[in-house]
Amino acid sequence: MKYFILFGPPGAGKGTQAAAMVEKYNLRHISTGALLREEIAKGSELGLKAKALIDDGQLVPDEVVEGMIENTFKTTKGVSGFLLDGFPRTIAQAEALDKMLSQNSEEVTSVVSIMIPDEMIRERIKHRASIEGRADDASDETITNRIATYHAKTEPLVGYYRQQGKYREIDGTGSIEEVRAGIFSLMESL
Ligand code: AMP
Repeated sequence: MKYFILFGPPGAGKGTQAAAMVEKYNLRHISTGALLREEIAKGSELGLKAKALIDDGQLVPDEVVEGMIENTFKTTKGVSGFLLDGFPRTIAQAEALDKMLSQNSEEVTSVVSIMIPDEMIRERIKHRASIEGRADDASDETITNRIATYHAKTEPLVGYYRQQGKYREIDGTGSIEEVRAGIFSLMESL
């Protein structure tokens, strides 16, 4: 099985690119953000707890998302691999993922990182807010917290995966088609 991680700051276009990647390579797309938004929509206890953190631009506890990932791995059949989008977001999550996979003699195949500069993050999120209406895209304060959380907790993963020789970076500032072409040519080389 292939285990790809789609990495990058909020607003980099991970969700958009994931859709094309899963289709072309027969992968199961797992977006922890989307799974959490489903829980919120259902009004579950987990969703209620997560909502306050998400609306504040903070991360939900590691154990919550790790459980979601493990559960999806166990219940998915008939795919060539997985595309993790928005997970891992902390070093602890990356370590938990390595442990989960190694128990089945598997490992992360590669990290595909879509990079955009900070100025563009805000612009892209604002644009998405006008289309998708996500609550955590609407407030300036939440966006500021998400950018700060990304730099403090998620960006250290670049070093973590670089050290393992698994980190590949794509310039995310171009058009959707340009970025997609870059990702596909990278995927062919993996
Ligand atoms: P996303 O859709 O990936 O931008 O995620 C939306 C929000 O869900 C994030 O800002 C976090 O509050 C929460 N979230 C999603 N994935 C994770 C994760 N792996 N760890 C912790 N919180 C997460």
